[in-house]
Amino acid sequence: MSFFSGIPVAPPIEVFHRNKQYLDEKAPEKVNLTIGAYRTNEGVPMVLPVVKQAEIELANDSSLNHEYLPVLGHEGFRNAAMELVLGEDSPAIKEKRAFGIQCLSGTGSLRAGAEFLAGVVGLKTAYVSQPTWGNHKLVFKNAGFTAINTYTYWNAEKRCVNIDQLVDDLDNAPEKSVIILHGCAHNPTGMDPTQEQWKRIAQVIKKRNLFPFFDIAYQGFATGDPNADAWAVRYFVDQGLEMVVAQSFAKNFGLYNERVGNLTVVVNDKEVIPGFLSQMSLVIRANWSNPPAHGAQVVHLVLTNPDKRQQWMDSIKEMSGRIKTMREALRTKLEALGTPGTWNHITEQIGMFSFTGLTGAQVDHLIKAYKIFLLSDGRINICGLNTSNIDYVANAIDRTVR
Ligand code: PMP
Repeated sequence: MSFFSGIPVAPPIEVFHRNKQYLDEKAPEKVNLTIGAYRTNEGVPMVLPVVKQAEIELANDSSLNHEYLPVLGHEGFRNAAMELVLGEDSPAIKEKRAFGIQCLSGTGSLRAGAEFLAGVVGLKTAYVSQPTWGNHKLVFKNAGFTAINTYTYWNAEKRCVNIDQLVDDLDNAPEKSVIILHGCAHNPTGMDPTQEQWKRIAQVIKKRNLFPFFDIAYQGFATGDPNADAWAVRYFVDQGLEMVVAQSFAKNFGLYNERVGNLTVVVNDKEVIPGFLSQMSLVIRANWSNPPAHGAQVVHLVLTNPDKRQQWMDSIKEMSGRIKTMREALRTKLEALGTPGTWNHITEQIGMFSFTGLTGAQVDHLIKAYKIFLLSDGRINICGLNTSNIDYVANAIDRTVR
């Protein structure tokens, strides 16, 4: 008899499960379109040159040591991260009613923000987009939200944002619900609201007294310009809304396993800040006590040094540019093959992912017959495509769809 007898085996986390299937596969033609991580045209992970350089400088900096950081994190990093998302000229920063809290990558930022909203503020109802990133519901549930609902996001038939239904759903949400919004490069659909659509979303959030919780895990990856990708967040600030913004530096700095994240908070009354920070310190103290320093030091060094920042912007352009090229190549090849259906959505979508519209049965076939691994909802990571495998993938999709 064990304390742990009878614990049912939980279903596997699809994205990691599929990634492992890929790694275990022996066939040399295998293709990995699963996990949301950047790959070069050679199919390997990328260490950004400026990140490597910053790491060398930090390793040689004898003033640094491995003492604990403060509970709320590295101050320079928190400010640099906040400025990156809100913009240096943000009215909220000028009015000293915005601040950052270092957390463990995007997930930890979501978790700390959600636990604070549920436990300290007493908000218990959250809304996530339908569909959304696989972890949102789990994070909010474990953080103490008792109702996690969905708002309509996707029109599967037209492959676009179903804005009328989205606004209607938010209009019917109870007051003080927390609305989780993807700041840019919506995962998994790859389709963001237009600026006009964001305006309608902000309006209904304001009118219904809802609380916006932005999740921005891909700033810079959508358009190649971190400022353009932060447009929605900044628009909400301009509208006078309070909000929290979970930032991840996993993708845009290639620092996946360093767990570098920040929760940027915008309030409309700076008097509330001491209470907020003191309570947030307790949330973090009970979770990880204080965050890791290395990745935060790297991001801080790069963002605050003009030359390094420029090199980082160049890398972002390179990565997002390669993704765009691969989108165009896949669409062009499918259209040239006369593959049944329309494929314009592949280039209309942005960010790492494409919601291909392939069905579950088609996904199974691609995995079994061609060893092309993707998610059962038809989401592919465009970064898994390169000049060596694009023909193979396009032909496989073509034969599978026919
Ligand atoms: N939000 C979304 C929408 C994501 O896609 C991801 C990464 N897959 C994250 C948050 C957080 O990732 P991480 O914790 O690695 O920063």
